Amino acid sequence: MVRTDPAATPLCFALVPCAGSGSRAAMSGPKQYARLAGRSVVAHTLRALGAVQRLRATLVVLAPDDTAFEAAAAGFAGERAWVARVGGATRAASVANGLAELRRRGDGDDDWVLVHDAARCLIRPPWVDRLIDACADDPVGGLLALPVADTLERALGAAGGGVTDESGAVEALGQRPLLVRGEVENFKLTWPGDFALAARLLASSPALDEAAV
Ligand code: C5P
Repeated sequence: MVRTDPAATPLCFALVPCAGSGSRAAMSGPKQYARLAGRSVVAHTLRALGAVQRLRATLVVLAPDDTAFEAAAAGFAGERAWVARVGGATRAASVANGLAELRRRGDGDDDWVLVHDAARCLIRPPWVDRLIDACADDPVGGLLALPVADTLERALGAAGGGVTDESGAVEALGQRPLLVRGEVENFKLTWPGDFALAARLLASSPALDEAAV
């Protein structure tokens, strides 16, 4: 399905990397399958993305040997719910493989892809809409970001203390993504203590529009 009409409105797809082992979370299995507030982490993420009507489809990228996803995200079904077991050794590889898969499934040169980690399960539909609105006329695209509130210290040689910069890869290609105001709650579950905090926030979040998910 490669569209040829140059006047066609660009489509938006979500790409959810879900192929990590989550070793920093110190859980018995991948953190995206941990259960919080009645659902798996990835199920919360996919419900929120599914409620964003402007997303044509959501592609979940799983590890090739994943056997847990279908049970963990039983509600992820229908013609807007896509799955590909093309995860790579790093998040960046999983994203690149997912982009190639979207291309195979027909996304076009002018379409948008929103990359959102399975492990950011507190995402809310209005924040995704805010990002889409802000980027619609931008030639590069953007990401939800927050100004730093705390002092950042780089710990030399500390285990697991690496700093990752999700916009860094884009900057390295000479592109400057738009930084759109994000929310503190949209944090990535990374460390053991993050799960109890996320569970409390999910329990007190307003309900999603059930009809839309
Ligand atoms: O481990 P980390 O917190 O960096 O993972 C961020 C997101 O990227 C998670 O949703 C994880 O499942 C995903 N990931 C992936 N493929 C990898 C590593 C991480 O899809 N090889």
